[in-house]
Amino acid sequence: MDMTTPQDVLARAEKLCQQRNVRLTPQRLEVLRLMTLQDSSISAYDLLDLLKASEPQAKPPTVYRALDFLLEQGFVHKVESTNSYVLCHHFDEPMHTSAMFICDRCGSVKEESAEGVEEIMHKLAAGNGFALHHNVIEAHGLCAPCAEVEACRNREICQHDHSVAVKKRGR
Ligand SMILES: [Zn+2]
Ligand SMILES: [Zn+2]
Ligand SMILES: [Zn+2]
Repeated sequence: MDMTTPQDVLARAEKLCQQRNVRLTPQRLEVLRLMTLQDSSISAYDLLDLLKASEPQAKPPTVYRALDFLLEQGFVHKVESTNSYVLCHHFDEPMHTSAMFICDRCGSVKEESAEGVEEIMHKLAAGNGFALHHNVIEAHGLCAPCAEVEACRNREICQHDHSVAVKKRGR
């Protein structure tokens, strides 16, 4: 599937909804459209602020209902560890397990398909008689540009923005 532009993503989603006989209401479509514009994950409240531009009446339940639908259809994923949402980049494969690589400095989220990992998880689950429904794999660290900035030892002369702090994760 070629989902390079937001338009591609929306067209694809509309087609899938037609095939599945579910309603992609204008509101759901607008929330999905807003998500296609994000480079990183976004919280429901930030999404609400964006939605208010076109729907001043929107309330938190409006966003949560739309997100529930989009999650159900596999168009977006929830990033549990940061309590936010991110667009899925291969929602043609609704059963895929993805690994989320979350940058603790800039907040970008990169989704990778995690085939081998899924097999391991199912094996581990089966060994315990555990009926596995849903895997969430979230990895925290630094994306490539942020890793470069953090490794920089020339803070006086470089062009980096060193004012951004890496989020310390609680233990
Ligand atoms: Zn995905
Ligand atoms: Zn980063
Ligand atoms: Zn630097």
